[in-house]
Amino acid sequence: MAIAAHPDDIEFLMSGTLTLLKKAGYETHYMNLSTGNCGSTTHNSQETTQIRLKEAQLSAEILGAIFHPPICDDFEIFYERELLKKLVPVLRRVKPAVILTHSPSDYMEDHMNTSRLAVTAAFVRGVPNDFPDFPAVSNYNCAIYHSLPHGLQDQFRQRVEPEIYIDTTSVQAIKRKALQAHESQQSWLEDSQKMNSYIRTMESFSSEIGNMSHAFEHAEAWRRRLHYGFSEPEFDPLKELGKAYLLNASYVES
Ligand SMILES: [Zn+2]
Repeated sequence: MAIAAHPDDIEFLMSGTLTLLKKAGYETHYMNLSTGNCGSTTHNSQETTQIRLKEAQLSAEILGAIFHPPICDDFEIFYERELLKKLVPVLRRVKPAVILTHSPSDYMEDHMNTSRLAVTAAFVRGVPNDFPDFPAVSNYNCAIYHSLPHGLQDQFRQRVEPEIYIDTTSVQAIKRKALQAHESQQSWLEDSQKMNSYIRTMESFSSEIGNMSHAFEHAEAWRRRLHYGFSEPEFDPLKELGKAYLLNASYVES
């Protein structure tokens, strides 16, 4: 299950790995916490919400993932109880063995708060006294993987070293198609963030990570969260991706 902040974050950071998991036999799930209502200078908030909902649904369909609707608006992703109340039931229903989410350190608070919300919602999956309206599930093994931050650096401009590289070259075309579904974003990002080409930005990001791996043309990269509260120590289901999985030796040594 990929849990991101805004419509298109999954496509940039996680969709390759999600697609490979799907090909490996997993049922995959797609959820953005926010509607993305602020992602336009020409449409109002409500219109933008509607446009981006359709785009995200189309993208999830392209990725073959089950779509879960957003639970708040942009800049409303706070680490707070009300949002957990909305997220915990989803997690208890889906029971993901793998959670792909944002880096806990990133350029944007929405991303960082999404990562914290996903972590806590998973942590309380088997705690019956918390959110008792939604039956808790067993404390089954759940692995959480944090993607790299935007620009591969944290909010203090420090480069973030990944632990695991995933070769996404074979699914790059699907990744591109899923990102293209977010049609409304192509011009908005050119205006607001000087991203001269939406698709090119994603491609250069994945090829930069590929270069870092010294093995793959296109890649996504992850840090596996400490297992306490989530799984047995060695539970690392991304390993099931076989040759597409590569440990970063320098991360393991450090
Ligand atoms: Zn985002």
